[in-house]
Amino acid sequence: MATLMSNYARLPITFVKGEGAWLWDTEGTRYLDALSGIAVCGLGHAHPAVTAAICEQAKQLLHTSNIYGIAHQQALADTLTQLTDMETVFFSNSGAEANEAAIKIARLYGHSLNVETPTIIVAEGAFHGRTLATLTATGNPKAKQGFTPLMPGFIRVPYNDIEAITEVARCHNEVVAVLIEPIQGEGGVNIPDADYLIKIRELCDKHSWLLLLDEIQTGIGRTGKWCAYQHTEIKPDVLTLAKGLGNGVPIGACLAQGRAAHLFQPGSHGSTFGGNPLVCRAALAVIETIQHDNLLSRVIQLADQFKQGFSQQLQGVLGIKDIRIQGLMIGIELDRPCGALVNLALNQQLLINVTAERTIRLLPPLIISDEQADSIITLLSHLIREFLTDSSIN
Ligand SMILES: *Cc1c(COP(=O)(O)O)cnc(C)c1O
Repeated sequence: MATLMSNYARLPITFVKGEGAWLWDTEGTRYLDALSGIAVCGLGHAHPAVTAAICEQAKQLLHTSNIYGIAHQQALADTLTQLTDMETVFFSNSGAEANEAAIKIARLYGHSLNVETPTIIVAEGAFHGRTLATLTATGNPKAKQGFTPLMPGFIRVPYNDIEAITEVARCHNEVVAVLIEPIQGEGGVNIPDADYLIKIRELCDKHSWLLLLDEIQTGIGRTGKWCAYQHTEIKPDVLTLAKGLGNGVPIGACLAQGRAAHLFQPGSHGSTFGGNPLVCRAALAVIETIQHDNLLSRVIQLADQFKQGFSQQLQGVLGIKDIRIQGLMIGIELDRPCGALVNLALNQQLLINVTAERTIRLLPPLIISDEQADSIITLLSHLIREFLTDSSIN
């Protein structure tokens, strides 16, 4: 273990096999996965359609370079632009890189308007990645500790506070874009007011700013639409995807439309691995499966099951501050730090996550059964009640 850098606080468990929402560890013990590798394996583990696509492609061609045409990349770009009503795509290998592309597009846009220091509005509690620019855009001060100098060109406002953005518009004349998550994932499953995105879109239009939406966690069916913004009538100028897109193969995408669609020119940006035949073929299989199995409407159904289940079991329990659910993004906020619940759940063969110290976060795969959802609700509610009682006594 000492040969790995110490940047992760790992749980003492290693998985060797998966199937659907189940995972098996090295001892052969079976676990129920309510986290999907943090919203990555939306189709669960070892999905046959994705496995078949990867195996077939591996037999044919893994990589050629973006110097040449890549048929599956083109097909995936056609599919994604159609599903999102965007125009163009750049493929990366991760979420942070997709956001880097979005930030670079915003800067090109700013310079095209002769703005000297193009500046992007970002939110408190935001998570946009770990590269230097995306780390700067991220809210959490702990994540930034020791990494100065950070990047210039960002202004931070409170999340879900449209007045704060209006105020920035009043006193800054170098703003060129807003970068925001439709729901904050790492920040604590924070679901803003229904009109928040719409109001941001209006401000962007009024001030000729680009709206950059980070849907790396919320995208690819997680909230019951392909993208969370599709619950409204608006659309972004730039959209980033990653996590759920490849079901475990590393792929990210930065999509753009309108004024943002054609700012990259030959030489402005690139990636050696980005959009190679293997990952694009896998992503195409993911999208086809979501369509074929009607998983978007299934997510809405499951969300209702989780809402009903958790409110029955937890509503009114002392210590429960809030239960936030949109699609299969589920946050249960307690009145106290609850990181200990991760291990308590692990001991019961249930995989969950705690983020922002006090919020239990579930991101179950879109393919879980009613029975699996019920198991998660029953088991976790029991653990939470027990935890709240025990930590009140102590
Ligand atoms: C995970 C995540 C990222 C970063 O993605 P990486 O693939 O880890 O670089 C960025 N934004 C959001 C909203 C995320 O959830």
